[in-house]
Amino acid sequence: MQEFWSEICSRYPPSLVEFFFIASIQLLAFWVPATIYLAIDLLFPDFSNRHKIQSERRQPTWEQIKHCVQYVAMNDLISIGLQLILRYIVGLHRTLFIQSLAFPSLATTLGDFVFGLAAREISFYYIHRLLHHPSIYAYVHKKHHKFTAPMAFSAQYAHPFEHIIANVLPIFLPLAMKGTNILSFGMFLSFELWEAAADHSGYDFVKLPPAAIHDLHHEKFRVNYSTIGIMDWIHGTDVVGWDRTKKAQSLRKDPVHEN
Ligand SMILES: [Zn+2]
Ligand SMILES: [Zn+2]
Repeated sequence: MQEFWSEICSRYPPSLVEFFFIASIQLLAFWVPATIYLAIDLLFPDFSNRHKIQSERRQPTWEQIKHCVQYVAMNDLISIGLQLILRYIVGLHRTLFIQSLAFPSLATTLGDFVFGLAAREISFYYIHRLLHHPSIYAYVHKKHHKFTAPMAFSAQYAHPFEHIIANVLPIFLPLAMKGTNILSFGMFLSFELWEAAADHSGYDFVKLPPAAIHDLHHEKFRVNYSTIGIMDWIHGTDVVGWDRTKKAQSLRKDPVHEN
């Protein structure tokens, strides 16, 4: 394995190696599991109905599913095209991540994984809260919420602007800035992509990550904004109605409303 990797790194320009490595992970860690979840929806409807978190009548129609898959494919093609143009402009020897012939150590890979997880949890939470702001929501994030009962592919069903600032940057930027080996990043990216598909699968048997948490966000909108749940727990946004409770408390404290 190590020899195969060394051979690829020494034979091809670093930027092209990085591009094909990331594109393969998008295919293997997102498209493959999302297709498996979709196949369960379509091939085993009885099993699917028994195990979907939301009721059968709330599930997307075949037309909506087809539109979603086509839109996600278009988002991927746009990002592949943009990446190739950018890589050509900045030069094929410049990369976002470190490439070495040797594999990174297990301790380094785990350290990068934990760092990436924490950075994504914090940044995604605040970006997602911002996308729910009434002055922005209708223009950008409403698209992702078209699926009130999500299915795996809807994880990347988002306005292209949202796809970049909420899906791509919180995963790529912290580890690129830290200076991470491309193989450590590949492991983290695989986990994040699989997690996004599982989170949106709509199935109650997905316990790690627990799909019910993000499913509730699609059903009720103003709850569970983060990916792991820690930021929601800190801000108290993990309970449906947290905003109404907060509003009622501020009205009670407001002297104008006391009389
Ligand atoms: Zn949202
Ligand atoms: Zn979602």
